[in-house]
Amino acid sequence: MQLRRSTRLTSKRIPTATLPSQPVPKKTQNHKRLSQTKTRDIEDYFSQDEDNCVRAHLLRWYDHNQRELPWRRKHGGAWDDDGDAKEKRAYEVWVSEVMLQQTRVSSVVAYYNRWMERWPTVHSLANASQEEVNEMWAGLGYYRRARFLLEGAKSIAKQGRFPGNAAELLGVPGIGNYTAGAIASIAFNEVVPVVDVNVVRVISRLQAISSNPKESSTVKLIWNLAGQLVDKSRPGDLNQALMELGATICMPTNPKCTNCPVSDQCRALSLSRCNKSSIKVTDFPPKVIKSKQRLEFAAVCVVIVQNELCENQKHVNGNLYLLVKRPDEGLLAGLWEFPSVLVAQKQTDVKSRRTEMNNYLKNLNFDLGKNYDLVIREEVGEYLHIFSHIRLQMHVELMILTTKGDLGQLENQMKSCQVTCKFVHGSAMESMGLTSGIRKVYNMIEEFRTKQMLTNMGEPIRKLKRIRSR
Ligand code: SF4
Repeated sequence: MQLRRSTRLTSKRIPTATLPSQPVPKKTQNHKRLSQTKTRDIEDYFSQDEDNCVRAHLLRWYDHNQRELPWRRKHGGAWDDDGDAKEKRAYEVWVSEVMLQQTRVSSVVAYYNRWMERWPTVHSLANASQEEVNEMWAGLGYYRRARFLLEGAKSIAKQGRFPGNAAELLGVPGIGNYTAGAIASIAFNEVVPVVDVNVVRVISRLQAISSNPKESSTVKLIWNLAGQLVDKSRPGDLNQALMELGATICMPTNPKCTNCPVSDQCRALSLSRCNKSSIKVTDFPPKVIKSKQRLEFAAVCVVIVQNELCENQKHVNGNLYLLVKRPDEGLLAGLWEFPSVLVAQKQTDVKSRRTEMNNYLKNLNFDLGKNYDLVIREEVGEYLHIFSHIRLQMHVELMILTTKGDLGQLENQMKSCQVTCKFVHGSAMESMGLTSGIRKVYNMIEEFRTKQMLTNMGEPIRKLKRIRSR
């Protein structure tokens, strides 16, 4: 396709009617208005000269400014030729990119280093259990990604080699266009683009693209433009440069345009300079109003069993926490949590929650009157946990029980129910990989118990002070 040449960037190229001033709801009249305006052909975007210019500036900037990150380290500088080193690099890029989809770089580094120490190759990961992977992932959220990493590793180990191009990588469970592009370009030097939120932002601003970035036509356009930009000799570096620019310079709210290596090619900046009061570079891409998260309510009961057998066996303490495994499908699939039941908003009063919880515990063959004696049952507090689509209000209570029975026997009784559960010793809870929501509940309980202990210790002292003052 012959690309139309255009070296000067002026505001005339973008009809002002297409400029966003309000967030773009997913489906709104505003949407309609934007789609009715004249759309640009792909040739109207980067000309070949502009492509070359952006590419050269970006690569030069990246060479001097890239952050030192563990997954960017070369293995003896050999990965360009050595097949094993390339596979190792591919595995590292894969793990880091999946983690980076979860959280910011600074948090990922520690997770990544721990992960690589435990599973340095895709084959070692393939031998891990889901339980181990979940533990290692704990706190990163969106555990489906961790599950796919393990499934993908097993599938690659079965094939016997790491797929060496984007098309083959797409056949690995959990690897989509973005991850395939990142691995193929960075590890195998394939000339393919990568589009993540940073790239969407940078390209939308470079080209002053005002359409909804979530809409499939815009997504397609940005992939095409990113593909047009990829450098033939250094595809991985160019892709990383675009992402790095979005992460460190062209940020969502405060872009550092004065430090930007491609500011001369940036149409959003050019428009904002020509229309000082009405257009800002941060108008691109237009903000999309997220669909509302639904509010759910859960009764959570932290059950601690103080078992005499444990104390006789000189455990650090005799507290055993009851944990329940979530179903293998759906939200937080296969992860451990404290006994929890979803309740309706009108059932969030203490009495209704306890009725629901008692029924739930009965289904775990956890017979309160028969095998366990209640020591305390107290309300601890509420905690709002935010998922991408749900706001879960957890009403947390603490239930401490004693049993003189054989714990092994009681555990066996629990095994006969349909839900998988287990006791975990108090000392193991500290280091156990728990989801951030469950870790928060655990911390609430520990704080509550410490306060209770201090209150109980303070009472005799207060009594003594009262007696002395008489
Ligand atoms: S000039 Fe500013 S808005 Fe444009 S790409 Fe650079 S940082 Fe982003």
